Amino acid sequence: MKNTASFEELQQLATSLGASDVAVKMTEEIEIDEKLVNFCKDPRCENYGLSPGCPPHVGGPETFRQMLKERSHVLIVRIVVPSAVLFSEERRELMAFLHELVATLELTAIKKGYPKARAFAGGSCKDLFCFDEADCNVLSGGGCRNPKRSRPSMSGFGVNVAHLLKICGWESNLKPEQEGGEPRSWIAGIVLLG
Ligand code: SF4
Repeated sequence: MKNTASFEELQQLATSLGASDVAVKMTEEIEIDEKLVNFCKDPRCENYGLSPGCPPHVGGPETFRQMLKERSHVLIVRIVVPSAVLFSEERRELMAFLHELVATLELTAIKKGYPKARAFAGGSCKDLFCFDEADCNVLSGGGCRNPKRSRPSMSGFGVNVAHLLKICGWESNLKPEQEGGEPRSWIAGIVLLG
């Protein structure tokens, strides 16, 4: 019998690495919305087409539905931050951290008995990891410069992140921790498990 890590082990790892919230759900609970993919193109994201993890280089909703069929569960992670961080110079560092977090969870899950584990984050890896390079090395015919850090964005596959939060029972409009405290926001990623 294969030695598969319990979901609890992966959840604990996510928390120890810095996730604020972690949950495991069935893949069939994930909602895909084709309309969300169109937002990458219109209004056009400045990173559209710049990496293999974003449209038009990803398979989109159809590919993602197939991936869901081949996997049973999804690990969902959320990082809660002061809203101001998302509009500051720290944004890039934070989004890169999200990529690294889900990539680490994916690589650990593969080692621990989930060979089909696949992680997805948010934002373009070209902007986060290769912003000072002229081009993505993969799109130029080479290998990824950051294979253990960067992962595709959920947007290009139409993953409805608002729905993900709902099924986890997580508020999307976060209140400040204390009365009169800093507004808070969040970023999220997923790891498909199977
Ligand atoms: S080389 Fe890797 S990290 Fe850099 S843009 Fe391409 S896919 Fe993303």
